[in-house]
Amino acid sequence: MKKLTLIVPCFNEQEALPFFYKEAISVLKNLNYEYELLFINDGSKDNTLNILKDFADRDACVKYISFSRNFGKEAAMYAGFCNATGDYVAIMDADMQDPPDLLPEMLKLIESGEYDSVATRRVSREGEPPIRSWFARRFYSLINKISDADIVDGARDFRLMRREMVDAIVAMGETNRFSKGIFGWIGFRTYWLPYENRERVAGTTKWNFWGLCKYAIDGIINFSEAPLSIASWFGIIMTAIAFIFLLFIVVRRLVYGDPVAGWASTICIIVFIGGIQLFCMGVMGQYIAKNYSESKHRPHYIVSETNKPDAEKIK
Ligand code: UDP
Ligand code: MG
Repeated sequence: MKKLTLIVPCFNEQEALPFFYKEAISVLKNLNYEYELLFINDGSKDNTLNILKDFADRDACVKYISFSRNFGKEAAMYAGFCNATGDYVAIMDADMQDPPDLLPEMLKLIESGEYDSVATRRVSREGEPPIRSWFARRFYSLINKISDADIVDGARDFRLMRREMVDAIVAMGETNRFSKGIFGWIGFRTYWLPYENRERVAGTTKWNFWGLCKYAIDGIINFSEAPLSIASWFGIIMTAIAFIFLLFIVVRRLVYGDPVAGWASTICIIVFIGGIQLFCMGVMGQYIAKNYSESKHRPHYIVSETNKPDAEKIK
């Protein structure tokens, strides 16, 4: 019998976990697969770890890996991929925004042999602030234009994949992880399953607006070098403008003499060029910072407790 691993990153999910566990088990039990529920406790400050231990005591299919602190959802997903043992691996949030009842359909699609992965995308963003949806749409259209990572608008991290794809993800050992980009970059045949947005069953989202902005900027910097060429383009445009100015000044000098005027415009130009230079240095600084954190080769996560004896404790 084939084995399915369900990876669930959890950060302060004590309210949502009981609902999730009940729903996930009722779906998994009715599938014709051996299964493993792999919870990653990402340094929760609430009762999440005790709840997971309680599930594990009652159910041998429940495994948990608990981090020494909060390393972020990307690190939690990576830990899941590194330690999943299934022939098929699915990743899913603990708040039921990724409905477990889609699993049977996803398995059927992957079993057809035509796809290596079944990914989900939200076709509606109901319940989300309109400004957040607007920025999210702009982000997806921009990143698709300037990078090789093919990311569908509304794409969730919720997906089911074959072992080959999981191995490829594990091999992408970068420190600055952006999974949506990684999934697209490694390729493979992906089926996009649309579904209506669902609201979180309990608890609160871990994202605020600025957190999402930072995530979007990180995504662009991790998967595109286009911002680096901004400096060159500004340079070319500014040189062209300066040349036109030069012509203008020479002609004016020859025709009208040289009245002392124009200090205001001079200041404007200095400030403008100074601003562009600082902006371009900032963009370069972002890439240097990423390079710096990559070059340190720090582990992605550190495990403090687990009931999986062969789990990689530091990776
Ligand atoms: N999560 C995590 N570590 C974090 C933040 C979030 O493991 O630092 C988990 C969280 O427990 C949930 C999933 O990632 O299972 C998605 O988080 P959330 O629901 O807050 O994000 P949203 O659905 O609002 O994008
Ligand atoms: Mg959520």
